Amino acid sequence: MSSLLNILQPERHHIKLEIAGIELTVRPYNHGDTKAFLELLSDYKAKKKGGEKKLLLAQEELINACIIPDETGRKPIKARDLHRADFVALMVFLKNITHGEESHIRFQCSNKKCENPETKNPYITTIPFVFDDAVIKGERKEKISFDYMGKEVTIFTKPYTLGTMIQNAELFDIDIPDMEVIHKFQASFVDYLSVGDEVYEDIPFKDKVEFLTKLTPKYKKFLVSYIEEEPIYIWEKEWKCPICEAINIAIFDKVQDFFV
Ligand SMILES: [Zn+2]
Repeated sequence: MSSLLNILQPERHHIKLEIAGIELTVRPYNHGDTKAFLELLSDYKAKKKGGEKKLLLAQEELINACIIPDETGRKPIKARDLHRADFVALMVFLKNITHGEESHIRFQCSNKKCENPETKNPYITTIPFVFDDAVIKGERKEKISFDYMGKEVTIFTKPYTLGTMIQNAELFDIDIPDMEVIHKFQASFVDYLSVGDEVYEDIPFKDKVEFLTKLTPKYKKFLVSYIEEEPIYIWEKEWKCPICEAINIAIFDKVQDFFV
């Protein structure tokens, strides 16, 4: 029996992270890592609201458990510091090396009048999901600048990481967030600032929030578009309904969409 179990040496796999530009060695997740995560994921998918923070924390724990230390004995990156695009790629990779690559997703025809004669409901199709077909949309920028009353204001930015998502999880759970929540979210992308020749480093978080609260929308829009253009994976498939011939687009463009 022992010789049989010896076949099962710990598996090691390599993945290159596009945004961080580093290669990681990882292992598949085990039953202990995965139980809490799968329960939270199915709960989240069923409700679509609430539970986002718990789910992100479970994903953080799972990733940290699966990253193998390098030759210096250290893990090259902490889950919290992963860019959200790298986070998506890594989570899908871990799922694939653990469960196998085949995933199929069910999509319902978007035409509300569509009726499948067998089910009396809109037609449902099954599409294979292959992560290699997903592309990165958006571009990382280190800073943004605008002119404010004749002076150049530069905001040195922070990337959109798993940490940013955990820190702002409440935002994803409320339908109409108030401005305070939005300003806190935006402030988490501000590293430091310069105005003309003056550089403002080590700004307390509450001062960043206050700064954004006072900034008028015509200037704040520069930060808003920075956040919108932060890289994210997009996966799209067009399909034609065989019942009503409507053209449907199946799309994944939110982080949790990918974990099917
Ligand atoms: Zn249809």
